[in-house]
Order: sequence, then structure tokens, then C-alpha cells
Amino acid sequence: EELYGIKNWGAGYFSISDKGEVMVNPYMKNKESDTSLMDIISGIRERGLDMPVLLRFENLLDAQISFLNESFNNAIKTLNYQGFYRGVYPIKVNQQQQVIEEVTKFGQRYHHGLEVGSKPELIAALSLLKDKEACLICNGYKDEEFIDLCLYAVKMGFNCFFVIEIPGELDLLLARSEALGIKPNIGIRIKLSAKAGGHWTDSGGDRSIFGLNVSQVITMVDKLKECNMLDSLKLMHYHLGSQIPNIRDIRSAVLEATRVYAELVKEGAPMGYLDLGGGLAVDYDGSNTNYTNSRNYSVEEYCTDIVEAVMSILDPSEIPHPVIVTESGRTTVAYYSVLLFNVLDVEKLEEYEIPESLKDETPEQIKNLFEVYKSLTLKNIQECYNDALYYRDQIREMFKHGSITLRERSFSEKIFWSLISKISKEKQKLKNPPPDLEDLESAIADIYYCNFSVFQSIPDSWAIDQLFPIMPLHRLTELPKRNAIIADITCDCDGKIDRFIDLHDVRNTLPLHDVKNGDDYYLGVFLVGAYQETLGDLHNLFGDTNVVSVRIYPDGDYDFVKEIHGDSVADVLSYVEFDPKDMIERFRETAEAAIREGLIDPTDRREIMKAYDTGLRGYTYYER
Ligand code: PLP
Repeated sequence: EELYGIKNWGAGYFSISDKGEVMVNPYMKNKESDTSLMDIISGIRERGLDMPVLLRFENLLDAQISFLNESFNNAIKTLNYQGFYRGVYPIKVNQQQQVIEEVTKFGQRYHHGLEVGSKPELIAALSLLKDKEACLICNGYKDEEFIDLCLYAVKMGFNCFFVIEIPGELDLLLARSEALGIKPNIGIRIKLSAKAGGHWTDSGGDRSIFGLNVSQVITMVDKLKECNMLDSLKLMHYHLGSQIPNIRDIRSAVLEATRVYAELVKEGAPMGYLDLGGGLAVDYDGSNTNYTNSRNYSVEEYCTDIVEAVMSILDPSEIPHPVIVTESGRTTVAYYSVLLFNVLDVEKLEEYEIPESLKDETPEQIKNLFEVYKSLTLKNIQECYNDALYYRDQIREMFKHGSITLRERSFSEKIFWSLISKISKEKQKLKNPPPDLEDLESAIADIYYCNFSVFQSIPDSWAIDQLFPIMPLHRLTELPKRNAIIADITCDCDGKIDRFIDLHDVRNTLPLHDVKNGDDYYLGVFLVGAYQETLGDLHNLFGDTNVVSVRIYPDGDYDFVKEIHGDSVADVLSYVEFDPKDMIERFRETAEAAIREGLIDPTDRREIMKAYDTGLRGYTYYER
């Protein structure tokens, strides 16, 4: 458990069984509900679905929505806050219909609503949201069509807020409101001067793209007063950025925003809603620190700090407590999905037999490299490393100029890699190894070739070096003896994972079990429910993976509630404008020509056409 940190990042949902398998449990403390991911994989296999599979746990979404709402409700009760909490789920974080459907279903008991940032998102929300008490927050840049739909939503009784993101939007809103005779609920997005640390925090600060600065806020209030519409200004919103690791940044933003809120009330706006955006971070590495992939606070602390901060600003001026809205996406859906895949092959750095002595005719440079190999000690470790690189480069140059043979070069590479392995082993004895030797482990790590695409399934790992917990799903009673990096099947040099979570820093290799040819070995990438699905792309034409949703019952039994087949080869080709029917016809013509040339006969053609057709209808990943 300690090796992979599952207790730290698993939030109580994931654990390891006595049999050494990863277990999931949405009911946390009730051990009976523990369900093995390997059992689920067997079920998936029996149903004929291939890896990779994105596995969704319906109950985890339910559990996270409850956890967030209950944490706010507890903070509100404990601190005697007079308003209440209304969460909204920002659709952009995972727009799959199934996800939004489940959020609205499970969210209903808390009146958990939706946040939209574009026309398609609004249109999706209007088809699924039934709860009129839940908030529907319309952010994003809006055209006339978008505005009209927001206004119709108000007319239909939705608790729909039109958030002004840039000053120019107000005129069009007022014009459309007059034309349709519908009074909007106006929200205003403000720019805070506070800016937080982290990967995704460009949304905050004076220079953030969206939101109004202080003078624009005043101009807008004056304009609303002029046209007798100030009574429509009911909500204030800001978004500091996603994944904010430090609670102090969150607190200071709430304090600053509540000050603006108080001033808007003093200006005569009815207000009533304070929307604090997203930012509630997920502890991906389990370190509970203010590292980028973590957070130095709990969800309960987040809620308490927000409620307390709002009260501390409003109470001295006796301003009524507003409804607190947050747009937490990452925390709501991250735990919900795990990417499952199998290992296809392993490339190990071989252990070579290095002879005791060299033949006399061995080229001088290879002899020098050999001497370095023999003379390595803890004391001269850095010097040996420098010499190893120097002689290796010299030997490579000599090969280019034809002065050593391929066989000699191959022998020198064996000495070189054996030397690097020896240096890496010696290095473990040093308390403070030289910085040059830091990356040595990943250079000599095994490469585990795995059946998935980084670009399609965990794009943030490639794009912004985000870390996700990754671990084997079984054999966890055995100590993993190999140090590995992971390569996907895109054949792109960026299609790899060579940074892994660690409590104290980042690891360059992942401990994995030895895999013999033909062994089934499964890995899982956890906490991938937020942002990864729609950001994924078709690099090398690896398409959407199979998706399986399970519902787990308190007795540990589970149902496969939904199965969505991933893209077929024909699907991905049609995305890049191929027409599969036309392709079959063209390939048929090529096969006919091959018959004419005497290369194949008509029976061959039948088999070849069948293989082509099966290929087109097949999965884009490695099938077995
Ligand atoms: N609200 C807005 C306006 C956003 O742009 C985002 C995403 O960055 C979110 C909410 C979701 O933030 P998080 O995933 O940190 O909860």
C-alpha cells in the first residue's frame, strides 16, 4: 500500500485486498462492499470487450456530490450561516451525456445544478436539467442565440443566471430582454487581484481574460441603474483557476470577492448569490501539500474556510448571507473513472556478461571504457560517469568514420550499459548523490509497452506534465522488483509516462512486477474522470476507448449498467474524412488488379477483402 500510496490518494474509495488486488468501495467504511477491479476486468473480458477500457463507477459520482454538499451543509450549520449552499457542475470538466445525466440525477436531492460556458453546453443542460430549484449558471461569451435561450430558460422557471463576462455583453442582453419581454437574472464575473499558484490558474489575477475589473463593475452598475435594471443584478461570480493547491490563496480570494459583493449590495443591487467558481483541488499524489498535483486542505476545511471568510466580511456591515455557489468540477468527477489497460511487452536492459579481460587487439577506446568499468568505486562515481559518456561518444564517432566494426561497437555498448547499471546501484549508497546522476534510473528502467494512448486517454500527462496515480491492479502481495517507465502504442516519443507520484517529490520510475511472455498484467490510471475525456485527441488515429459503467451495491455485488463501444477503425477514419464504403471499393479495385497481375487468385481476394473489412470494423487498439 505504501509503495503506491493508495491510502493517501484513494480518498477511502480504493484499497488493496489480502489477495493483492485493487478494490473499490463507494461506501468507504463498509468492508463488505469492497469490489475487486480484477473481477470487473474478468467480467469485461467475458463480455467480449478489449482493453483499454475506461471504467466508470456510478456510485463514486454520487458519493462525491453528497460529500461536497454535506461538507458545505455541515460548515453552514456549525457556523450558523444564514444562507445555504447550491453547487453547480461545470459541464466542461466532463461533457459526456452519461456524466451530466448522473450528476443531475444524483444531485437532485441537493438541488445541485449545472454551469455552462458555451451554446452546446447550454443546449445539453436544458435537455437534462429538470430541477427548477437548482442553479443554471451561464458563463462564457454569448451571442444573440445563446442570450435568447438563457432568457427562455428564465421564462420557463429555471433558476438561470446570465453572467456578464465582458462589458460588451450587457447591451445585447438588455436589447434582447426588452425584445422578448423577459427579465434576466444578471450575474457579474469579476477579476480579482488575487492570483493563485498552480498549473491552471491563469483565470485569476488582474490580467485574466474574462471578468470585469473594478471600474468596469462600477460602469455596469451605473448603466443598470440608468435603465432601471439594477434589481436584476443578483449574482457575483469569479473563477480563480482550477486545482488551487494552497488554501491561503482560496481564502484571500473569497475575502476580496466578498468585499466586492458587499459593495454591490450597498449600491442597491438585490444580489443574493455569491458564486466562487471552481478551484477545489484533487490530491492526485496524496501528499496533502501545496504541490501542483496536491492540495494542503481537506474538502471540509475548504467549505469551513469559505463560509467563515464570507461571514467575516458581511457580518460587520449586517449584510444578509448569500446563497454560496461553487462550480467544483474536478473534485466532483475525478474519482469517477479509472483507465484500465494491459501490458503488451516489456523491454529490459539486459544483463551482459562482461569478460575479466580484453583481447590485445581491442581498440584503445573500448579498453579505456573497460578500465572505467573495472575501477568504479563510491568515491570516483562522478568521474566514472563522466568518463563513461566521454568514451562512449568517442566510440560512436569512430564507428561513424569506419574505424571500428558494428560487432566492436555492440560490445562497447554492453560495457557502457553494464557500467551505468553499476553506477546506479552504487549511487543508492549515497545520501546526496551528484545532480548529474539524478535521472539515471529512468535511463536504465524497463520499458513496459502498454495498450493505450497517452494522447487519447490522459492528455494532461503529456500536455502539462500532470501526474495521476498509476499502479498494478493485482499481484500486490508480491514485491515488484522491476523499475519501469510506461510507453503507449502511439509510437510517438512523447507517448510515454516517466514521471510518477511520490509523497515527497516525483519518481522517475514505477515499481512493477516481472512480466513473462503471455502473462496477463493489468495497470490502472486513477482519478482520470476530470478533463481527460474530451481533451483527448486522435493522435495516430487511436480513438475513443471502450467505456464501461458499473454500479456497486452495499454487499459488494455490482451491475454493468452501461457499455459504450469505443471507436472502430472506420469511425476514426471518417473523422479525417475517409469514407469507409469508398475505401472498400478502392481496395477491391486494387485486389482485382492483383488478380490480373497473377499475384493472387479470387479465393485469396475473398480472404483479403474479409480481413480488410474486419480491420475496418475492429477496435483501434491492440486486440486479442
Ligand atoms: N468554473 C469555470 C468558469 C471554469 O473555467 C472552470 C475550469 O477551469 C471550473 C469552474 C471548474 O474548475 P474545477 O475543475 O477546478 O472545479
